[in-house]
Amino acid sequence: MKFNTKTIHGGQKPDPSTGAVMPPVYQTSTFAQSSPGIHQGYEYSRAANPTRTALEDALASIENGAKGLAFSSGLAAIDSVMKLLKPNDEVIAMDDLYGGTYRMFSKIYSEYGIKFHFVDMNDLEKVESLFNENTKLVWVETPTNPLMKLADIARIAELTKEKNVLFAVDNTFATPYLQNPLDLGADIVMHSATKYLGGHSDVVAGALVAKTEELGEKLHFAQFATGGTLGPNDSYLVLRGIKTLHLRMQRHSENGQKVAEYLENHPKVERVYYPGLESHPYHEIAKKQMHDGYGGMVTFTFKSGKKEDSIKFLEKVKVFTLAESLGGVESLANHPAIMTHASVPEETRKVLGITDDMVRLSVGVEDAEDLIKDLEKALS
Ligand SMILES: *Cc1c(COP(=O)(O)O)cnc(C)c1O
Repeated sequence: MKFNTKTIHGGQKPDPSTGAVMPPVYQTSTFAQSSPGIHQGYEYSRAANPTRTALEDALASIENGAKGLAFSSGLAAIDSVMKLLKPNDEVIAMDDLYGGTYRMFSKIYSEYGIKFHFVDMNDLEKVESLFNENTKLVWVETPTNPLMKLADIARIAELTKEKNVLFAVDNTFATPYLQNPLDLGADIVMHSATKYLGGHSDVVAGALVAKTEELGEKLHFAQFATGGTLGPNDSYLVLRGIKTLHLRMQRHSENGQKVAEYLENHPKVERVYYPGLESHPYHEIAKKQMHDGYGGMVTFTFKSGKKEDSIKFLEKVKVFTLAESLGGVESLANHPAIMTHASVPEETRKVLGITDDMVRLSVGVEDAEDLIKDLEKALS
């Protein structure tokens, strides 16, 4: 099956009891058994729920994996990956991670005796030098938030395969419409399904897809044993979102490219971070490992370098809504230093290059002309 068919049919079958084409929302915690231990595959909804199963099968299908798992949030999904680790294990992670991921690693799991190395994943020599017998996991996000840094998934996979270390990729920004980490050699794909998979800013959810059944079972055990599962209503919403993922991503990418090109030519704009621009330092990696476009996330800074200019701009936009989050059909604008990345210490932000005049756009699926007019007004 091709991707555009998988989003609609992948892992799906009509409901066995009624023939319903969309799975009913099985709003139940428990399932009747005919004799102790004899049931139809469902016992208790923390272990499995049919609406969640439908979503999980769709997730496995679109990410080309053996097993999908749906979580109560993206962070709950990451949390279950971390539960594969033990004290003294080491993790090599990208230095430009989603703020909440960085917070979980540095504030929670480093207190549990797990050691993290945060590193520029493009410095492969450095990455290689960090491996030792305690290294158990490599964690990569590509493209990153908000600097749109990319990491070469296939090249990192060569290293993790050689060293026999798990390799997980946060594919939230690209989605499987644009990038397929498991095909490139990763073992686990993670999503904040709150973003593009859900796609309508109406649900908080997370996902993991494991390349092998065996790894999927380990992750399912961690999820079942600690409880971060997604409820049936929210599972339904994410599944419904996935049905139009390919249509939305196509438009997000077209609009993202247009907005990035417009901003790059604007006299008040200093720098635009978008993987689809030739000026982007990671454009070559983007061309190599992404396909059918570069997504809807665009970050930019002001010539003036002034924080006030970014704030004025954010107060003026009308079609873009000033809000955290991303990946919904509506365009959003965000001030990383004050909003989404406030949990990253100021010193670290400086080192990474998250400046106070930086604006991050989640370009939606509206008419591109309206979006550009809105930017034009706000910039003037
Ligand atoms: C939002 C986000 C997360 C966290 O997901 P939640 O659903 O908010 O818990 C992780 N990674 C990336 C790239 C994100 O954008």
